[in-house]
Amino acid sequence: MSKIIIIGGGASGMLAAITAAEQKNEVIILEKMNSCGKKIAITGKGRCNITNNIDISEFIKNTPGNGKFLYSAFNNYTNRDIINFFENMGVKTKVERGERIFPVSDNARDVIDALLKRLKELKVKIQYNSKVEEIVVENENVVGVKLESGENLKSDKIILATGGMSYPVTGSTGDGYKLAERVGHTISTVKPSLVPLECYDRELCRSMQGVSLRNVAIEVVDTETNKVIYNDFGEMLFTHYGVSGPVILSSSAYILRYKNAEEKIKQGKIKISIDLKPALDEEKLDARILRDFEEIKNKDFSNALNKLLPRKMIEPIIALTKIDENKKINEVTKEERERIVKILKKLELKVSGFRPIEEAIITAGGINIKEINPKTMESKIVEGLYFAGEIIDVDSLTGGFNLQIAWSTGYVAGISASLSE
Ligand SMILES: Cc1cc2nc3c(=O)[nH]c(=O)nc-3n(C[C@H](O)[C@H](O)[C@H](O)COP(=O)(O)OP(=O)(O)OC[C@H]3O[C@@H](n4cnc5c(N)ncnc54)[C@H](O)[C@@H]3O)c2cc1C
Repeated sequence: MSKIIIIGGGASGMLAAITAAEQKNEVIILEKMNSCGKKIAITGKGRCNITNNIDISEFIKNTPGNGKFLYSAFNNYTNRDIINFFENMGVKTKVERGERIFPVSDNARDVIDALLKRLKELKVKIQYNSKVEEIVVENENVVGVKLESGENLKSDKIILATGGMSYPVTGSTGDGYKLAERVGHTISTVKPSLVPLECYDRELCRSMQGVSLRNVAIEVVDTETNKVIYNDFGEMLFTHYGVSGPVILSSSAYILRYKNAEEKIKQGKIKISIDLKPALDEEKLDARILRDFEEIKNKDFSNALNKLLPRKMIEPIIALTKIDENKKINEVTKEERERIVKILKKLELKVSGFRPIEEAIITAGGINIKEINPKTMESKIVEGLYFAGEIIDVDSLTGGFNLQIAWSTGYVAGISASLSE
């Protein structure tokens, strides 16, 4: 039996603790906040998208940030395993759009409570308000931790599961990077991912602020080379600074990794092209507009797009067409109609930057994966030190994949810490 300290009581830390305790170890979670799983509580807009229902072999494709590193972890503890865990703990699950798995109750609290209940059953000690300030290493072996309070705790193994840097109010403030750096690890540059995008066309976005579009196609393009950096279909929304919503958040993970992205963004060369009517090609859209126009041909052009667009978008889009809004609809020319079609099929915005990391769903970057054994999650630098969750330099798209990273790496760290001498 080993004494194992888990630093951080988030998704990965709690699963690591459960796993290690099931192997009959003495396990203690040190959590700096006054409760565990504060970030889980806000996942999936409070509903917690626990994982995804697609085959586990597809998870790596949805993990642009070092997905291959997770091959072993994903296969050792799969989406089926975590679904079974929660079902066994009484949390019934359901599959939604995009194969996303949620609790039937639509309540993230049930996920946290199930984890806490299992921790209690296994008699895992949770010490709250306990910020770890230092991992103590002797002869390249972990021997314990020092807390901010001055308390020292001894242990045979340590699992560092302090998360990333986004939504710091949940406790994820990047402490783990400093703890790991001090014992010799390197940190790959930490950046926001799955993050809303700011646009140079701020006024246009602001005028449509709050409009959420469910079925749009987007293309993110480098205007210098015409290379398509990302394309997707789904939901997005306009905000006072630019754009957000699932397809935009996912696109940020690819823009972030695009060569010279920062420079290109500065130069206004990264463009988002939004197809507001992806179900209709230009010809069909024109025919549809003509039909709409026929019904209201004696009205002013300001009424022309009422059936095609949400109310808040009509005025800004009409302004973009540069057609006089007082013009009668039956006077709109073919060339002007072509302009309307072009704007509806290719509404273009220029990206001016990412929102700050505090607003990101996930932190890209983190503990350099070259310094971690992918089969065990053990440090290659310090014996007895393991990593789990977002602190590692891996990140996925939206859809439940990031929590699966936390579950899978938490499990592997927990089991490896238990098995090794
Ligand atoms: C708004 C939002 C919505 C999301 N929705 C989803 C979703 O629906 N599905 C999905 O898959 N992913 C989602 N994610 C991502 C997912 O929540 C994270 O990837 C996941 O929670 C990471 O788990 P973790 O255990 O690595 O870290 P965290 O959950 O961040 O936990 C880290 C813990 O460590 C503690 N800690 C930090 N420093 C110290 C220290 N020095 N001493 C002691 N304790 C410390 C923190 O207080 C915290 O409790 C969402 C993220 C956000 C921000």
